[in-house]
Amino acid sequence: MAKTIFERIIDREVPADIVYEDDHILAFRDLSPQAPVHILLIPKKHHARHGTVPSEDHPIFAHLLAAAQRVARQCHLEETGYRLVINHGPDGGETVPHLHLHLLGGRPLSWPPG
Ligand code: 5GP
Repeated sequence: MAKTIFERIIDREVPADIVYEDDHILAFRDLSPQAPVHILLIPKKHHARHGTVPSEDHPIFAHLLAAAQRVARQCHLEETGYRLVINHGPDGGETVPHLHLHLLGGRPLSWPPG
């Protein structure tokens, strides 16, 4: 199967503005930011989307949330606030089939989403 754009970023075949990395997670700025801070956090191990991660890999959910907390602190968003989003499938608005968590902040975000 062809690599997704995010696997190509992990493999450093495509450049990205990387803000955080550990053994499990890579975080980089979204190419088309929807807020002053818009960072994508992805597992290095490929999973297409949230709903298909098998139970043996569920620890990745904790890794993603913990890394998001670190990055949010790094971006000084603790006081002003931020939003974490995972889009699953067509109705969710998913466009890249590699599990990713959006971290958005730096402006007030409306609710509900469109
Ligand atoms: P989704 O809609 O699947 O939840 O989010 C995919 C996100 O990936 C979008 O916000 C889109 O702007 C971002 N994106 C797509 N291609 C690239 C890329 O090549 N580099 C970066 N940094 N972000 C990308």
